[in-house]
This record gives sequence, C-alpha cells and structure tokens, in this order.
Amino acid sequence: MPVHVSQHPLVAHKLAILRDKTTEPKKFRELVRELTWLLGYEAMADLATRPEPIETPLEPMTAARLEPRVGLIPILRAGLGMVDAMLELLPTAEVWHIGLYRDERTLKPVEYYNKLPDAATVQVCLVLDPMLATGGSAAATIDILKHWGAARVKQLSLIAAPEGVATLTAAHPDVDVHVAALDSHLNERGYIVPGLGDAGDRQFGTFAGPASEPGHGPDDETAEVVRRLQRELEP
Ligand code: URA
Repeated sequence: MPVHVSQHPLVAHKLAILRDKTTEPKKFRELVRELTWLLGYEAMADLATRPEPIETPLEPMTAARLEPRVGLIPILRAGLGMVDAMLELLPTAEVWHIGLYRDERTLKPVEYYNKLPDAATVQVCLVLDPMLATGGSAAATIDILKHWGAARVKQLSLIAAPEGVATLTAAHPDVDVHVAALDSHLNERGYIVPGLGDAGDRQFGTFAGPASEPGHGPDDETAEVVRRLQRELEP
C-alpha cells in the first residue's frame, strides 16, 4: 500500500494554519476544502483516460476523457467537509454514505448506515476522512466497498498516524493512501499527535466541554487498544 505524503509547499502551509488551535471553524472548514482539493488533485493523477474525438473551433482532434466512474465515500461526520471540494474537481462523481462510528472505548468501528445498491456503480472509490487515526473505520469501510465490487479504492486523509497506516496496510495492501502529513503517534485517547484535535468538532463548532477534548480523562480500554496498535508497530 503506497503511502503518498504530499510534498507540496501550499499543502504544508495550509496544514500549519489548520493545525493551529486558534483557527476558528469557518477558516478551518475553508482549509479542509482547499487541502482536499490539492490532495484530491494529486490522488487522481493516475486515473485512466480514454481517447475521445472532439472538434475544437479550429479542427477535429482526439482528446482524453476520464475513464472510470468515481465514487466518493465520506466517513461521517468529519469526512463530509471533504465532499464539496472533491465534487468541484469531479462534478460527476457519485457520493455514497456509509455510517460508521468509532466506539469511544474500544476505538472499533460500528456500522449504523449503509444504503449501497447491490452492485457497484463505480470503479474507483475515494474514501474521505480528514484523520486516519487507528485505521479501523477506514479498513472496515474499504471491506464494505470491496465486497460491493469496487475495483480500486484510494484513501484520502489530511493527517495520518503510523498506527492507522499500519492497520490499513495489513488489511488492504492494495489501497493507495494520500495524506498531507504523517504524524508522530496516537495518544492514549486515540487522537493523532501533534494532529489538530477533533476534526469533526473543529469543522462544526461542536465543543461540548472537557470530555470531548483530546487528552482528557484517558479511558483504560481505549488506552489498551492504542498500546496494542503501538506494540504491533514495534520492529
Ligand atoms: N479523529 C479526529 O478527529 N482526530 C484525531 O486526532 C483522531 C481521530
């Protein structure tokens, strides 16, 4: 599973502002959109094209049109902020919702919504989640998409933790991962460090108090899951 960490200076610059704790939700949402646009552009660089005859005002020519149908699968809820940017790049993309929530204690994904039709309607699926933390939700979503019949899946995240990349690599070695940054580690609550905090809360302005703040009140079960992921990473 190749992990592509963007080397673009614009990406680094926008990510610095996104991470800053003083960045307000409005600005945060704009940056998520802009970063998704830049990462999405990089992630789609290898999509196939087919020749198509067209006529310019001057003469006929053979142009290139995008070959595969593309599906966007935002991981709810933080992935929603990445959808509009991708639709600007690819207005004909289909948006499919798979609802998984991360059990706050076990950090395991639990499916609560899935309206995919029986057969796949797209060839390439782009899974959108700003934070690739434990990798559990991403791996579970990609399982569903592969069973559905998606021929190719790519993961687009703004920030990844090594633990999440390792989980996804083990489960889906064929999936390309495109990120703006690969951070240091997960903390005992499953937050990416240095990260940016809770990407959902920061986009939607839902700061419910200390219990929702990263690093507050580590829970034994959560901390054990993180320790297990970290042990698996050890050489
Ligand atoms: N989800 C987030 O929003 N932030 C993290 O750091 C990890 C998971």
